[in-house]
Amino acid sequence: MTKTRIVTRACGHDEIETNFISKEISAEKLCKDCWIKKTAEKNQAIATAHNLPELTGSSKQIAWATTIRETLRLYIEAAEAGKTTGGPGLEKCHPLMGKTDAKFWIDNREAILKLEKKIED
Ligand SMILES: [Zn+2]
Repeated sequence: MTKTRIVTRACGHDEIETNFISKEISAEKLCKDCWIKKTAEKNQAIATAHNLPELTGSSKQIAWATTIRETLRLYIEAAEAGKTTGGPGLEKCHPLMGKTDAKFWIDNREAILKLEKKIED
């Protein structure tokens, strides 16, 4: 049986943890819900700064899709700077940035999230 423990995250929420890391590191993390919310807010701010269109869908779908879209935006940015290895050409990526249906991003997340590995450090 897997050992679990309840930890209080930095946001004040309790969460069940299964993989034991040090208690100090564990307490500095946000719970999953707060992390998703914070990541979505960060990515939404980036999207606004880059004039990306607003996404449509449920708030959960939009939060998720915003993060997936940010991966593609970073890939395009890296590709334009010649800092990618392999991966699709910009002519295929650019039109996708206009997609506003959150479902599109979620349905295609596997292919899009893989692009992160094509970005050179
Ligand atoms: Zn929380």
